[in-house]
Amino acid sequence: MTVVRFDLGNTPGNDDVPRAAAPDALQTLTAAAADAGAAWTQLGDTLLVTGVPAQLERTGAGRPPMDRVEVPAARLHLVIQNGRQFQQEHTEVPVLVDKGRYLVVDLDPAEAGRLIEPSERHLPCFGVRPLPADTVVFEQRPPVPVPTLAVAGPRVAAVSRDAFAADLRTLAGFRTRHSTSTEFRTALDWADGVLSALGFGTRVQTVALPGGSTQNLIAERPGRGGDGRAVLVTAHLDSINVRDGAEAPAPGADDNGSGAAGVLAIARALQDHPGARDLRLILFGGEEQGLYGSRHYVADLPQEARDRIHSVLNMDMIASRNSPSPTVLLEGAAVSQLVLEELAAAAQAHTGLTVQTSLLPFNSDHVPFIDSGMPAVLTIEGADGANDRIHTAGDTLEHLDLDLALEIQRMNVAYLVQALGQA
Ligand SMILES: [Zn+2]
Repeated sequence: MTVVRFDLGNTPGNDDVPRAAAPDALQTLTAAAADAGAAWTQLGDTLLVTGVPAQLERTGAGRPPMDRVEVPAARLHLVIQNGRQFQQEHTEVPVLVDKGRYLVVDLDPAEAGRLIEPSERHLPCFGVRPLPADTVVFEQRPPVPVPTLAVAGPRVAAVSRDAFAADLRTLAGFRTRHSTSTEFRTALDWADGVLSALGFGTRVQTVALPGGSTQNLIAERPGRGGDGRAVLVTAHLDSINVRDGAEAPAPGADDNGSGAAGVLAIARALQDHPGARDLRLILFGGEEQGLYGSRHYVADLPQEARDRIHSVLNMDMIASRNSPSPTVLLEGAAVSQLVLEELAAAAQAHTGLTVQTSLLPFNSDHVPFIDSGMPAVLTIEGADGANDRIHTAGDTLEHLDLDLALEIQRMNVAYLVQALGQA
């Protein structure tokens, strides 16, 4: 099977300049692929076409292919990785397309089958699946060149850099926040104190884990006269050192001190903004063991309470800048496409972020919500595949870019003001 790679950008490729795919080129090439009985897969500004390429090249919208390789179709796989963890563990596997979090690899089907097996699942590190046909893996939208902060609302401007930095220092200052450690519980109690002082009612939920237990912290502020629905903001509080075990240092500054401190920052920014809808903030435990906290939380919710959930924003790794232009990835599913579009609009109105979007949800606390039909979106630093420190003792503060984290929080706050409605 011949696999042909097309460059969809309107301008010459340059990693320093984020590019959207040119819509005309995308449309022409995917239509031509369909006519020719070929399959296509879009990854940002790259289009892969597999099968009958000769016919396609004759109708290829005047776009010469960038390159081609011969690979049996059954060997083509999509990898979604946290950090660079697939590439670190499987240096022997040829990478055909490297888009950081997303890789297209040439992998023996039997080996891939082993990696896909639940018993062998390499969560929290990466997932493997056959290359999806006729699918957009992710899209990219460059920032809109307008004077952004001039139009930002007062709540967006209320995101405090100092408070975020201090909270992040506190969280990364624990030797570990491993889900079953005493330090995790100390961190959870500290966050409970912060959110209680900000006027939230809190409760702690116990979550069973293989060989122990962990906790979720749930903080709620009722809306004032809305439609009875709730807007959720979530992050996992736990950290992990995958190679060296539960006792080893796991500062988890980016993964996920940044998201947990982001939840507190949003609580602070919205302190004086009583919305019409309920605002519910959740810090999960057990994420790194396989989404235990969020799966437990969702399983425990009665259907009536699920129906009342308006939207869920999950933050997991928001403070490592892995690309020249500050980038956020919004990852949802069909059920959350509207939330995703509104977040992208908020980013364009209030930040200078390049926005990547994907409807292939993977491996964080938004997934259990999506699996149960609730509109959840992950907001995560772009190109996290360039981040090779996560899940190690090296995930420390000095590698973080607080400005990126603050931009992602501004986007989220702008969305939340709208989603919460006026009291
Ligand atoms: Zn994480």
